[in-house]
Amino acid sequence: MRLIFIGPPGAGKGTQAKIISERLNLKHISTGDLLRENLQNKTALGLKAKEYMDKGELVPDNLVIEIVKEVIKTNKNFIMDGFPRTINQAIAFDEMLKNLSLSIDKVFYFSIGEEEVIKRISGRRVCPKCGAVYHVIYKKPKNDEMCDFDGEKLIQRDDDKEEVVRNRFKVYVTQTEPVLNYYKEKSLLIEIDASLAPEKVTNIIIEALR
Ligand code: ADP
Ligand code: AMP
Repeated sequence: MRLIFIGPPGAGKGTQAKIISERLNLKHISTGDLLRENLQNKTALGLKAKEYMDKGELVPDNLVIEIVKEVIKTNKNFIMDGFPRTINQAIAFDEMLKNLSLSIDKVFYFSIGEEEVIKRISGRRVCPKCGAVYHVIYKKPKNDEMCDFDGEKLIQRDDDKEEVVRNRFKVYVTQTEPVLNYYKEKSLLIEIDASLAPEKVTNIIIEALR
């Protein structure tokens, strides 16, 4: 099965992708995580991407498309989280899937307003070692500011500062929202209320896949 999760930053795509991918045995592919991994390893691609990520802008299509092309060669059943984010990426994605004789089963649109997103992102904390995602109010770690899995001190992502988040939301509206229509026209889009509690959102997705 191949699913796409689209929605504004902070909508809960990563949180749900982690849960659903484990339940359904799918590969969770997050282009944001892959870019951050490149950055941590100081690859040329990572250093180039950083210029854009720090400002909350989208990384150029060709860089992201290359990453995805590589990863889907060896992972045919996946949840794509954070890609495609532009019409060009959506078209390129269709092309690569066609070349592999694959297709997308469903696209989940995580619908949520800007103020809720700001609340979620300003409280988001992540483990720099394993990437686990927490929230200071909605998903507290067991021990203050430490990862439940490896005890690492949690951090705030550089691009989770409020001014950068506001720009990311703007970029989402102008560049990613048109992608919703692209999948709507293909009758693949399912809109879900992403402002609900995490368990409710999980249940809605599972139900829609039955
Ligand atoms: P995205 O991958 O869409 O950017 P995340 O999954 O990282 O979003 O979620 C953003 C923040 O909101 C995280 O701190 C996460 O713990 C929290 N969160 C995720 N889903 C919910 C939810 N349904 N209700 C409240 N907080 C949530
Ligand atoms: P995310 O982890 O999905 O919030 O992504 C963090 C940042 O990585 C974004 O603000 C972009 O700068 C970059 N990024 C992630 N996915 C893409 C994509 N599909 N296209 C362009 N840039 C991306």
